[in-house]
Amino acid sequence: MKNFYINTLTNPKGLKKDQYDVIIIGAGIGGLVCGCYLAKAGLKVLIVEKNDKPGGYCQSFERDGYRFDIITHGLTGFRRTSPIKNILDKLNLFRKVNIARADPADVIIYGDRKIHFWNDTKRTIDEFKEIFPHEAKGIEEFFKFLSITNFTSLYYNYRNDTFDKILNNYFKDKALKGIFTSFLGVMGLPTFRVSAISATILYREVIFDGGYYPIGGVGKMSYALSEIFKEYGGNCLISVRVNRLKIKNKKVEGVILDKNEFVSSKYVISACDGRQTFFDLIGKNNLPKRFINNLEKLLPSTTVFIVFLGVNRNDQKNIKEGRAIWYTSDYTKLDEIYFNIYKGHLNLKDDNILCIFNLFGDTSLISKDKDAITLIISVPYKTPQYWLRNKEQIALNLINRATNVIPYFLKNITVKKIITPLSLYEWTLNYRGAVRGWAAIPEQISRDKLYIETPINNLFLTGHWLTFPGGGGIPIAIYLGYNTAKWILKFNQ
Ligand SMILES: Cc1cc2nc3c(=O)[nH]c(=O)nc-3n(C[C@H](O)[C@H](O)[C@H](O)COP(=O)(O)OP(=O)(O)OC[C@H]3O[C@@H](n4cnc5c(N)ncnc54)[C@H](O)[C@@H]3O)c2cc1C
Repeated sequence: MKNFYINTLTNPKGLKKDQYDVIIIGAGIGGLVCGCYLAKAGLKVLIVEKNDKPGGYCQSFERDGYRFDIITHGLTGFRRTSPIKNILDKLNLFRKVNIARADPADVIIYGDRKIHFWNDTKRTIDEFKEIFPHEAKGIEEFFKFLSITNFTSLYYNYRNDTFDKILNNYFKDKALKGIFTSFLGVMGLPTFRVSAISATILYREVIFDGGYYPIGGVGKMSYALSEIFKEYGGNCLISVRVNRLKIKNKKVEGVILDKNEFVSSKYVISACDGRQTFFDLIGKNNLPKRFINNLEKLLPSTTVFIVFLGVNRNDQKNIKEGRAIWYTSDYTKLDEIYFNIYKGHLNLKDDNILCIFNLFGDTSLISKDKDAITLIISVPYKTPQYWLRNKEQIALNLINRATNVIPYFLKNITVKKIITPLSLYEWTLNYRGAVRGWAAIPEQISRDKLYIETPINNLFLTGHWLTFPGGGGIPIAIYLGYNTAKWILKFNQ
């Protein structure tokens, strides 16, 4: 790693500074996968990343001997036959990173019961049927629907629909519908606003193929990809921000960095925030009015408030159940709470679903009697002053609520770090700290909004800010990273 990153524009191949085939803006997971495939195909590729580490949101950090991942829920789509696994396999990623799977992956606390999402789905179905016997038929059919559905059939049948339509097809019980609303917390959208396609795919992946995590943290996966990029001959500038794109006659000619330094290239790929790309790096004057109007109308996904905690267990029992624990006292209220968040309101008294993540299986960095725990809720974007005023109180609320689930918790906290939406924005420049690109609402899931090609010639997009297939998340960013690389290779023939 040490000698990998170049901090000057003279690269190891002795090329002059303005001779790249492709420059990629951003070393998030989308930019890295895209860069690997292009460099593998023999193109001269430069990735420019404003942070001092690759990974974007796929990042780990350490504090006083505890390791935390910024992304929390974990990886989906890593089964042997999955296209995402295949994309990474072809880069030989699994030579460098071991992926483990939690079993159960998720646990929902429902009153005094627990519903486990086991790797063996039949066991999960049986638990649901035991708790909701009057919905047994619907449960069987819903899981069957999830298991046989694919993106094409969903798109064909449900592209204008929201997820409540699907839930209503199978269930009557409000609490059960509420339980199948919980995971929408990662999108911060109620069932009657979230796209039926995005939500179904989310549930399908989490239920049948969830709970994976890289041993050593997700940052390890990002580092491994950046090493692979280097092995294929790629170059990366870190701690350097792209400030502008140079556009001439509606064609991109390269990027302008800090200190006005210009680097030219045949193609530029933006793997960072969609609004920044067009409004800041290009400027409205260089874009068609209609395109700007459409972009201005797009809504970002919601953001999150996170508390990272290092907890000393002191002989207490490990919470060895699930990588993610989901908790609220009333699941029937979730739709209303998510709708308020979507509308920009945050009621601190709301019993918003609380996700508690832990790395119980992975003791690569913390010792056996310590837990690295993450508490997270979705929230709307608020002003910096708002977070300054309220963040300690919100963190305390979350810690108190988590104590309902993990009783030894409160007394044994040794590390506490709060991350607000503002910190997420500052880290990645994702608009308003958006967690998953654009909001996954039906009218925004379309190739006609923001896809790989742009109104600027030779400028392409990748990562979670594309509106198709939509929904954001790591598998989508990986898939799009690969797809954009394929697109350019075809274009370049
Ligand atoms: C708290 C949290 C938890 C999450 N949990 C999960 C999860 O469990 N599972 C899941 O699938 N998804 C999860 N997600 C979503 C997932 O992390 C993202 O959808 C995905 O990582 C996006 O990858 P990306 O490469 O498209 O973008 P990003 O990760 O945003 O990367 C963009 C990169 O571009 C760089 N950049 C931006 N502007 C510039 C510039 N001008 N010059 C140079 N560099 C620039 C940024 O610094 C950043 O490194 C989570 C997100 C958050 C915030």
